Amino acid sequence: MVKINDNFQKLPGGYLFPEIGRRVRAFSAENPPMPLIRLGIGDVTQPLAPAVIEAMKKATEEMAHKETFRGYCEETCGAYDFLRFAIRDSYKATGVDIADDEIFVSDGAKSDCGNIGDIFSADNIVAVCDPVYPVYVDTSAMAGRAGDFDGERWTKLVYLPCTAENGFFPALPQGDRIPDLIYICSPNNPTGAAATKEQLKVWVDYANEHGSVILYDSAYEAYITEPGIPHSIYEVEGAKTCAIEFRSFSKTAGFTGNRCAYTVVPKALERGGASLNAMWNRRQGTKFNGVPYVIQRAAEAVYSPDGQKQTMETIAYYMNNARIIKEGLSAAGLTVYGGTNAPYIWARTPDGVGSWDFFDLLLKKACVVTTPGAGFGPSGEGYIRLTAFGDADATVEAVERIKKVL
Ligand code: PLP
Repeated sequence: MVKINDNFQKLPGGYLFPEIGRRVRAFSAENPPMPLIRLGIGDVTQPLAPAVIEAMKKATEEMAHKETFRGYCEETCGAYDFLRFAIRDSYKATGVDIADDEIFVSDGAKSDCGNIGDIFSADNIVAVCDPVYPVYVDTSAMAGRAGDFDGERWTKLVYLPCTAENGFFPALPQGDRIPDLIYICSPNNPTGAAATKEQLKVWVDYANEHGSVILYDSAYEAYITEPGIPHSIYEVEGAKTCAIEFRSFSKTAGFTGNRCAYTVVPKALERGGASLNAMWNRRQGTKFNGVPYVIQRAAEAVYSPDGQKQTMETIAYYMNNARIIKEGLSAAGLTVYGGTNAPYIWARTPDGVGSWDFFDLLLKKACVVTTPGAGFGPSGEGYIRLTAFGDADATVEAVERIKKVL
């Protein structure tokens, strides 16, 4: 009789977004007085840049002819040189030297953040920020690294609280459990906080000293507006010997439906006498056949002058929404964080109201869908997250409605 992976049985059933979906559907069935505005799930709403569309059309046409048709990509782990070189050059333009064979193109930062666990032993101690992007936790749990879920926390995870008091950036763990794998996300989903070089340096030194590995998710680096905030962990001295970086075209260029991302594994990063770059290369080469040619050409077009200009315009559109949400909710008396270097606004609920109760209130009274902070971890209780990815007019309307309710 086959034995299943019991770790899956330990996962709590109500993953955050299905539960939100359930509540929204139940409310919709009651005939809400106004159309719903969704500022909950972090999906983009604006179309792809014209330069990207052009590249996709051209690449699609190539697929229509025998001479230019492409099948499996036999270059590095299914990534064409044209894209890896463009990514390498974009790092170089910001002063970070990454070799092209340190870049692995994939179908998503979500997959890579979870799949990276394949190259590490199941008994490693994992640290996650709290609140946290749920993928780090659930994939650790599936791999047996999280222990059991006690209704609020996973028994084996090291939780690093990120609160208003520490500026939503984690302090080094206290106690005798030294984490081996440390997930850090900056700019952060859900709090919208972005780490400084000094803050990251503390973790880089810690990881190098203890032989840990930082799994650095910078899926939102394109949203950084303040000078001096690092876009890459490799801007921090010492990071190449302790950090893996995940990036994505999803939020940078509206590729949530296109699927393209990349992960950097420096060749200088070794643990247990092994090169993690060689291990990830082996893992991807075995389990992954690459991103479609048309999509890789589309991603390449993001780096063209037109592509850069057009994608930056879309990011500015979203960041204007962020400003509107932030200013509107502050004017309504809420304490609001994020929204400056990230498309997420993290708002304190008024008068200590619970996150799910505040979520329900905004849903029922303002017909605005948000995300309850408690869904991202125990330290998210007392907050809600709003995303700046909505339509601009709808965002203005949502903020007006929320103001009236408060
Ligand atoms: N990392 C973070 C922090 C995210 O918020 C998201 C998407 O919401 C992802 C990764 C997923 O990126 P991708 O679409 O490339 O899988």
